[in-house]
Amino acid sequence: MAEQHSTECIFCKFAKKEIEIAAPYEDEHLFAMIDINPAGMLVGHTLVIPKKHYNTIEEIDDATLKAIILAIKKLVPAIQKISEAEGINIIQNNGKVAGQAIMHAHFHIIPRKHGDGIRFEENRRKIHPMEQLETAKRIKEALGK
Ligand code: ZN
Repeated sequence: MAEQHSTECIFCKFAKKEIEIAAPYEDEHLFAMIDINPAGMLVGHTLVIPKKHYNTIEEIDDATLKAIILAIKKLVPAIQKISEAEGINIIQNNGKVAGQAIMHAHFHIIPRKHGDGIRFEENRRKIHPMEQLETAKRIKEALGK
């Protein structure tokens, strides 16, 4: 469950301003900060982080989640401008196996350029249309519809 301002969590410390960070944007719900370990070679890999502690996306309350996606919408053209990126990825990792390094939910804005060496499209496979239909059906059921 969500716990507010865990003493261990580094993002909670940033949110409480116990540690100074490079934060280009902030509002009541969230702050953005420049990733200290950016992907690729471009400047501007930015994290958008809710101020309250949530482990994963499904825990984030709707108002905060809405504020996050609207902040991303605002930040993308600014990041594109300063990085001269040809494209942008928005990434949200849930769980260690998916690459979540800090267990305080956050979103990555990653500026992209041809030949930047970043790869997300590895190991894609082709499925039969029947599997596609069956998977859609199973998710629908899991949604309770
Ligand atoms: Zn936290």
